[in-house]
Amino acid sequence: MTDVLIAGSGPTGLTLACALALRGAAVRVLEQRPAPHRESRGKGLRPSSLEVFETLGVASAVRAIGSQGVTLRKYFDGKQIADTTVDDGGVLLGQWQTEQILRDRLAELGVRVEYDSRIVAVDQDATGVRAGLADGSEVTAGYLAGCDGGRSTTRGLLGIPFEGSTRGEPAMVLGDVRAPGLSRDFWHQWFTSEGGGILLCPMPGTDSFQLQAAPEADERGGHVPPSLESFQRIFDRCARMPGIRLADATWLSSWRINVRVAARMREGRAFLVGDAAHVHPIAGGLGMNTGIEDAAALALTLAAALGDPDRREDVLDGYEAERLPVALDVVADTARRYDRVVDAVRTPGRGTEAGLVRE
Ligand SMILES: Cc1cc2nc3c(=O)[nH]c(=O)nc-3n(C[C@H](O)[C@H](O)[C@H](O)COP(=O)(O)OP(=O)(O)OC[C@H]3O[C@@H](n4cnc5c(N)ncnc54)[C@H](O)[C@@H]3O)c2cc1C
Repeated sequence: MTDVLIAGSGPTGLTLACALALRGAAVRVLEQRPAPHRESRGKGLRPSSLEVFETLGVASAVRAIGSQGVTLRKYFDGKQIADTTVDDGGVLLGQWQTEQILRDRLAELGVRVEYDSRIVAVDQDATGVRAGLADGSEVTAGYLAGCDGGRSTTRGLLGIPFEGSTRGEPAMVLGDVRAPGLSRDFWHQWFTSEGGGILLCPMPGTDSFQLQAAPEADERGGHVPPSLESFQRIFDRCARMPGIRLADATWLSSWRINVRVAARMREGRAFLVGDAAHVHPIAGGLGMNTGIEDAAALALTLAAALGDPDRREDVLDGYEAERLPVALDVVADTARRYDRVVDAVRTPGRGTEAGLVRE
């Protein structure tokens, strides 16, 4: 019998799976993708996540690949204006690398992610949960953890409202690119007096940079979708470094401002964890880190409930009581951090560090 069925193998699902497996629980991890991705996405692990990773035995592997401390090199209208070194005790590495380290640890604990396994139905009663998969098969378990991201199917199937707002037009285009000739010693941040900007962050253990930029607008003011050609045009306009040609865009994405929190994080034997329960601006880099903390808290809750069925109800309520206030706080805090970054970059010499501190 599976104790806990985990929907999704992002950083949240993998952290939960490792933490539960270490406590002796029988877990299965279902992932709708056919294979792992290689996208840099959430690149900053904060000290709180590293503490969780110490308990899982993966902190040293993360530190061995990632970099500690980063210098933001700020340019305004093409001129280099300021360098700011930031070291909050965290580690910078690609989200795909963090996931790979967690997946390897999980395999050591005897659990393999099951790919091409998309959950499309959920049902539960007093004895357990049943999840229906897209291929028509069914999995039963004692508990279900919905770690299936901001568009969570689990949340929809459980009927839990996702309260808040989504802005229509993308605020940012993103990608992983190479930029031969550009120094890899800095997180480059170019802003201009007409507005707009582009950031290129060197990703450790690779020869690529994570690119973040204000999207181009077409003649009718619409958003131009991300592409290598569009990235190059934005780069030429903001960085004014004609010798640098961007290449090999291995990830292209658009990011919209979403500020939402699930109305509940528990429905009977099912739980929402990570982005499935809260989404918010990326300023401050709190999304993945909050999911990792949620996962650590839910692992303790479920291990306690599995170990002492008589106290189950009180124990299970503890997860939402602890984590929903945190989610509400993070969502409000990151919205303020994002506004501060948008404001700061109009001043020459300022950049994303404006979003790093809580005010
Ligand atoms: C450019 C960028 C920079 C960021 N920087 C940071 C940062 O510095 N720090 C930080 O903390 N966060 C950052 N984030 C946010 C971070 O990427 C997310 O918060 C994080 O991915 C959430 O992890 P998760 O595991 O909850 O969800 P996800 O990573 O979205 O994983 C969910 C998984 O569930 C799977 N899935 C979905 N539906 C189903 C289904 N029905 N059945 C089975 N599987 C399913 C998906 O395929 C996916 O693999 C950043 C994001 C971006 C885009």
